[in-house]
Order: sequence, then C-alpha cells, then structure tokens
Amino acid sequence: MEELLAELNESQQEAVVSTEGFIRVIAGAGSGKTRALTHRYALIVNELGVDPSNILSVTFTNKAAHEMRRRVKKLIGGEQDTGFITTYHGFCVRVLREDIHRLFYPKNFIILDVEDQKILLREIFEDMDLKMNDKTFKRLLDKIGILKANTHYVQQMILRGEMPSVEAAGDMDGQIIQRYLKKQKRVYGLDFDDLLNFVFVLFDQYQEVLEKWQDRLFYIQVDEFQDSSLKQFELVKKLSANHGNLFAVGDPDQTIYEWRGADPKYMVDFEKYFPDTQTIFLKQNYRSTPEILSLGNALIQNNYFRVDKDMETSNPSGVKVVHYHGKNEVDEAKWVVNRIKEIVEARQANYSDIAILYRANYLSRSIEQELISANIEYTIFGGFKFFDRLEIKDALAHLRMTAAADDLSFSRIVNVPKRQIGKKRMQFLRERAEAENLSLYETLKKYKDHERFKSTGAHSFIEAIEYLKNRKDELKVSELLQEALQKTGYEAYRREDGDQERLDNLTELLHSIFQYEQTLGEDINLEEYLQMISLYTDNERDDQLDSVKLMTIHTAKGLEFPYVFVVGMTESVLPNVRALRERKERALEEERRLAYVAVTRAERELYLTESEGFQNGGQKKYPSRFIFEVEDDLYERIGELDEALIEEAKEYIRATHHSKEKAPAVFFEKGARVKHPVFGEGEIVDIDEKKNTYRVFFDNLKAPRPISRNFKKLEKLEE
Ligand code: ATP
Ligand code: MG
Repeated sequence: MEELLAELNESQQEAVVSTEGFIRVIAGAGSGKTRALTHRYALIVNELGVDPSNILSVTFTNKAAHEMRRRVKKLIGGEQDTGFITTYHGFCVRVLREDIHRLFYPKNFIILDVEDQKILLREIFEDMDLKMNDKTFKRLLDKIGILKANTHYVQQMILRGEMPSVEAAGDMDGQIIQRYLKKQKRVYGLDFDDLLNFVFVLFDQYQEVLEKWQDRLFYIQVDEFQDSSLKQFELVKKLSANHGNLFAVGDPDQTIYEWRGADPKYMVDFEKYFPDTQTIFLKQNYRSTPEILSLGNALIQNNYFRVDKDMETSNPSGVKVVHYHGKNEVDEAKWVVNRIKEIVEARQANYSDIAILYRANYLSRSIEQELISANIEYTIFGGFKFFDRLEIKDALAHLRMTAAADDLSFSRIVNVPKRQIGKKRMQFLRERAEAENLSLYETLKKYKDHERFKSTGAHSFIEAIEYLKNRKDELKVSELLQEALQKTGYEAYRREDGDQERLDNLTELLHSIFQYEQTLGEDINLEEYLQMISLYTDNERDDQLDSVKLMTIHTAKGLEFPYVFVVGMTESVLPNVRALRERKERALEEERRLAYVAVTRAERELYLTESEGFQNGGQKKYPSRFIFEVEDDLYERIGELDEALIEEAKEYIRATHHSKEKAPAVFFEKGARVKHPVFGEGEIVDIDEKKNTYRVFFDNLKAPRPISRNFKKLEKLEE
C-alpha cells in the first residue's frame, strides 16, 4: 500500500484510494492524472483483491493502452491478464467476440479499416461500371459515417437472409451505400463505427448480455475523458449503471476531437449525470520546467470557453522556450536538425528523447529529408503506418485467409502473384458466389475444374491455403506466416520484384510477431493476433530504436518527451485553414487547445518553429497567432523576423479573427433595444441559444423575427 502511494501527492492519493462511486479528476497537462489512474488500478488489484479481468480501463489510443498495460504490469506483476486495459474499440471487439452470434454474425468477423472500406467501394464501382476516384470514395465514406451516427441501420445488417433490394434505395449515392452495406455483410466486416453500434444493439436486445458485462466489469476507469463522444459516454454509463463505480480523468483544455464528436461536457457536467460525484483537482505539474509551463498557461488563457485552472510546478528552472523563425522551409528544417544534433551532443541525450510534432502529416516531409541527409534515424508514428503498407497488408491477408477465408482477403491475394485470375474470372466468381450464397474462396474451390480456370493457378492457390488451414492450430502465428509466404509464392514474388524495402518490411513483420510471442509469453492464437493487428492505429514497432520521433499533435496526446519541436507554427496550419475560414470562435479554440497539447508534451526544452514563404495554395506564410498572443518575454526568438512582416502578420490575423465583440461571447441580452439596417428599431424579446438567434420584435413589424446572433449589422441602442 505504502509503495503505491509513495510517489504521489495528497490529491493523487485521494484519487487512488477513492475506489468506490463516481469520481472525476480534472487537472491540467502533466499533473499526474494518468499516473493516479494506473496506481488506482494497481491498488484495486493488490489491496482489494480484485482480479484484473474485473476492471475496465479505457484509454484513447492503442499506444496509450500499451503503455498503461506496461506500467500496470510493473505494479501488479506480469502474470495477470490485463486485456481490459484497452481502447473503446478494443473493448467492443471483446464484447462482440463473445456474443455477436446473437446478431447472426460469426465470431471471427473481420474489422475493416479505411483501406478495406475503399476496396469494397472499388468493387462496387467496378460492378456498376462507374468511374472512380479517391475523392468520391472519401465523400461516400463520409456519408456512410453519417448513416452510422445512430444505430438504426444495424437492424438491416443483422436481419437473417437477404438485405432489402438495392432499387429501393433512391439516388446513386443511396444505391452505392446499400450495396456497400450488403457487401459488408457478406464479408462479415465491421468498421470502427459498427463496433460501437453493434455493441449497443446487442446490449439493448439482450439484457442478459449487458448484465453479464456489468457484473464482470465491476470497476471502470477512463483516461482522457474529455474526448469522449456521446456514444462512448453512453457505453461507460450503461456499464457502470449497476455497481456505480466510474472513475474519469481528463483535462477539458485538451479536448481535440470535437470535430469528431467529442464533447467535454460529459466531463464538465459529470455531476449532472451522476449525482454524488466526488471531484478531485490536481494542481501540481510534474512534467515540465516552469518556463514551458508558463508558456502553456499563457497560451490557453486566450480561450474563452474554459474553466480557469492554472498549473504550478516546483520543477527546477530550465532554459527559455525558443521561437525559431526561418527564411524558408528548408532553412527551418535544417535548423531543427542541427539543434537536434547539438542536443544529442551537449546534453548527452538520446535521439529517442526528441519528438517533432506537427499539425498535419504532410509537414513531416521537409524534416524527413533533412534527417535523412544528416543520417539521423527517425520513426514516424501514425501517418503512413507500417501496417498500411502494401506488402504488410498482403502478408496479413494470407493470415486472414487462413483464419476466415473471407472475400476481402481473397480478392487481395488470389492474383498476387499472378495466377491468371483477373477481372473477368473474378466477375464470374462474384456472380456465382452471390447466386449460390458462398464465399469467393468456396466458389473457387467448387469451380476449380471448370473450363474457365483451366490454365490458372487456382489449384496451387487452394492447395497452399488448405495446407495452412490444416496446420493453423499447431503452428505459432510467426511460423504460420512464414509458411504462408513461402507456400503461396508471395515471398518469391517479392524477391523477383527486387524491392528491398518491401522485403525488409516483411522481415520486420515476422520479427515483430516473433518478439510479441517471446516477450509477452502470452499464448496468442491466430484470430486474436489478427484482431489485435486490425486495431492498430499507431506504429508501435520502432519503440525500442534510438530514433527521433515524428508524429502529429493528435498522436502525441498523453505522451511526454524531454525535448519537443513543434514545427510549422504558421497561420493556416496551426490554427488550420478550416478554423480560419469558418470564422468560428469554437473552431479556433480547438486549434488553440491543440497547440496547448503540443507545448505541454515537453519536459525540458521546447522549440516552436516556422518559416517564411508560401503555402501550397499560394498564400503567404505568417507566424501563428499563437506565438504572438503570449508575452514576448516568455520565449527567446532566434532568426530574423522583421518589423514589416510582423505588421503584415498582425494585419492578417486581425482580418481573419473573429474579434471578441463579434464573438458569440458578447451577446446582447434579452430586453435590449437594437437597430437593424432594414427593419429599423426593435426589442429583443427572446433568445434561442440552440439556433443562435434573437427573436426581435421590430417596432414597425407585426410579429417577432429571428435574427442571427452573428449578424454584424445589428447594433445595440443606448438606453
Ligand atoms: P496529460 O494531461 O498530458 O495526459 P497527465 O496528467 O496524465 O498528463 P502523467 O503523464 O500521469 O500526467 O504525469 C506526468 C509526469 O509526471 C510523468 O512523468 C509522471 O511519472 C510524473 N509524475 C506524476 N505524478 C508525480 C508525483 N507525484 N511525483 C513525481 N512525479 C510524478
Ligand atoms: Mg495522461
């Protein structure tokens, strides 16, 4: 007990020993929220004698879950199954794996990522003879996302037998979407939205399933609670409804997924949802130097929609935050790389102590080029992920074929290497499969001796797959993959192809599975491995390498690094162009929170960099307003930023800024007299917050009119 509480302050200790009831911890970045959460987990196991399988601990990314599992294992010993330290999606997969058969889906359903979704769309476009491009796919995927915002569509997908006919579906998009759902069902594939929705439907329709999970997960903890969406909130609310144990930690200032449905109100209004909530605040920052912390505090104070909560630290003073202004992009990148070299030499730091953060993936390119030419190892987290690479997806498709022989994996590899099973023959297979209600693989098996497949590699392909299927229970996953790549000729094909990088990646994949089997020592079977892999959103493979870490700010959430560079601190990048164009205070505030997340990742040194030149769209580049809105003496400027440019930048900022007068924050009150350029004078008789309008009764009109609160030409008259 002592041990668990030793390295915690009083408030953290309070959080750790408060194991029962609804508890909320609100605190700024680096205040030890995640640490309190991990220690609380360990206390429940070690001191209350509760098995880890009875504790659900939700975090936001796979990387964070991985890290938390590692920390918890240190505290409770390595033997126990900590599988319920996971993401929302990871949890849903576990629920569905046990009970999805009730919705007439098999337990080895597959998980579709965006690439898989596009493959399905591509097939539909082919079937319908439509022209395709990436933009249309994206638009359709967005539409599908909207359809899946609620659970109605699930009924249709879990109906036994045929789905409703395509013709009924109206316009072209509607038809495509119908076909898409149908295909999804045929391959028993669930995308990320489906995972949550299916769980909701399952819980709604089968009370006993919900109760089982309520009983099983007697303690529930959520990290980064401020980024929970309505659905995610509903899920933990449901699960904790009986036992009433829910522990939520978060920082409303770090809400960065509002654009994707996150809503900090679940954190802020927690006690409205759960009366008797105990709230704990943490004030002490343990992560950063006072210099870094002051800059973070000063920055976030510019947000209007927030609860003020300044952080303090007793960490020793360090060096000033640096703002580097480069003459161009290359100059900026070169400076960053040189400073990295200096840090490594002068501070005896490792490359892995250094992180480079950016607002959008494309910003990494120039930095990458300089790192390459300086011969510095680096790893990109997120972005183009390891598991997204072609050869890795191919390799995994072989494993999926072995496990489930699903249509997607089949289509992916049946003709790689070439087996003369091209478009026409695939078309034939698809038609037969549809008519006979078979999978594509089953269809091929049935028709392998058919005339059409005479001079094809169908036989050898089937032989290889059958061989693998027969051995899948006796071989380890790594062995199975090795066999698969050899027996199907995939490896030979890649060798002939001569692309060393792809071969290295394949070796790396094998290596990673091998390591996983070795280090965790957990008996992992093929299905489990595949489900784990399909949930990867981060590149976790290079964690051990001594390399500089590159990632987006979103990916860096919850993490910390001794030395942090935030590059591309440019107007229209951070804040991004969408926030500026929308001219919405809220969008701009989300960008500021992002900047806050970025700067609060740094422990010892922080560098903010940007440069002159032009954006992709031709717009002249200016330093981000976030740099100007903190006092000059909070950072040291390196690089020449001339007065003229500063003036231009400020002018640009004024022009794109929603000034506080126009911001929704300073509305006129009910009862105020106002003047409208067309309707003349009148009185505000009501305010509709939801629609953001006043109801104004103009003296010359017979009924009140709704007028937007953002309408700039409405003036208030003096009393
Ligand atoms: P974020 O909001 O960024 O997720 P957080 O509040 O979760 O931050 P942690 O990551 O838990 O903060 O802690 C920040 C750092 O401070 C970690 O390195 C952690 O080990 C350290 N730390 C936390 N609490 C203490 C403490 N009481 N004494 C010493 N170090 C601590
Ligand atoms: Mg944290």
